[in-house]
Amino acid sequence: MGRTPWAPGDCDCGAEELTWKILICDGLEENGQLLLRPSAKVEDRSGLSASELFQIIPDYDALIVRSRTKITADLLENAGRLRVIGRAGVGVDNIDLAVARACGVKVVNAPVATTRAVVELTLGLIFCLARSIPRADRSIKEGQWLKKELSGSEIDSKTLGVIGMGQIGTGVAQLARLTGMNVIGYDPFLPDQEIAQRGAQPVTLDWLYRQADFVTIHAPLNETTRHMINREAISLMKPGARLICTARGGVVDEEALLDGLESGRIAGAALDVFAQEPPGLSALVRHPNLIATPHIGAQTVEAQQRAAADIAAEVLAALEGQPLRWQVT
Ligand code: NAD
Repeated sequence: MGRTPWAPGDCDCGAEELTWKILICDGLEENGQLLLRPSAKVEDRSGLSASELFQIIPDYDALIVRSRTKITADLLENAGRLRVIGRAGVGVDNIDLAVARACGVKVVNAPVATTRAVVELTLGLIFCLARSIPRADRSIKEGQWLKKELSGSEIDSKTLGVIGMGQIGTGVAQLARLTGMNVIGYDPFLPDQEIAQRGAQPVTLDWLYRQADFVTIHAPLNETTRHMINREAISLMKPGARLICTARGGVVDEEALLDGLESGRIAGAALDVFAQEPPGLSALVRHPNLIATPHIGAQTVEAQQRAAADIAAEVLAALEGQPLRWQVT
């Protein structure tokens, strides 16, 4: 299914045709589009249906998507001249990577553009959990004055357990240390020395659960991490521990978390990601000690602009046969 090498100059059509054609499916910040336009004909067509995309995909050398557009096997097999798919963000679970690889279509992403935004949201959620800030706001708007009921705790000298010491986990560890927290970290793919250099005291997972006042998860979702935070993990946590997950829905077993909140074993939890998104008004979402945000980890102006610039540069590099920084397939 591999493509034969092709470059804009290969065709004998007019000068107008001598540019790459790039389709933007889910929007892209203007700064990214400006980088693409000198080298390519760029079409920004958000909101295409699957069948509309299927009809027009044979025309394009590159696609730029976020998470909305599903790149299926059918679509890829109809994409005769497609060379590269750029994901303006991290997750590529909306792209059939095996078929893309078999078709010779490169997939690139922008894995570091949104790191800082997720780090800051995670810290924000830690503060919100410690002081019940969302509940305080809600109650005052409902005409209540819960001054005594909303006694919180300080995070200074508390222990933060970071599961997954990659880009985001490292950023969280480093920022949390500046607030006075003790940071311990677990990552089975990193040597202890590396975890220490990244800003956390390396520990086993069991020890992390037993010691942490706050547990935050920054591991990817895969078969090993699915429901990693389950009943057993929660039973090992300190009574009154608080849990934060801004990684991926499915890492936390939501039923087990609800039980943990109801029993009081978990004093509070904050989720930016859910097994099913949107999660609807589930019992978990409605729980007073659960802070829920609608997958806004990467939603800052700065992160989206960085992602646009990174993916524009990466897609052009792929089209031009230049070395790639973030090649997924
Ligand atoms: P990364 O690849 O840099 O780091 C992930 C780390 O997890 C790696 O160090 C890896 O060794 C570790 N890991 C893998 N399996 C593990 C396990 N079983 N236990 C503990 N650690 C394990 O990724 P990142 O950029 O830091 O992103 C982390 C997570 O954040 C990803 O799931 C990503 O999808 C998610 N994310 C969410 C948002 C959002 O909008 N909420 C935005 C960006 C990224």
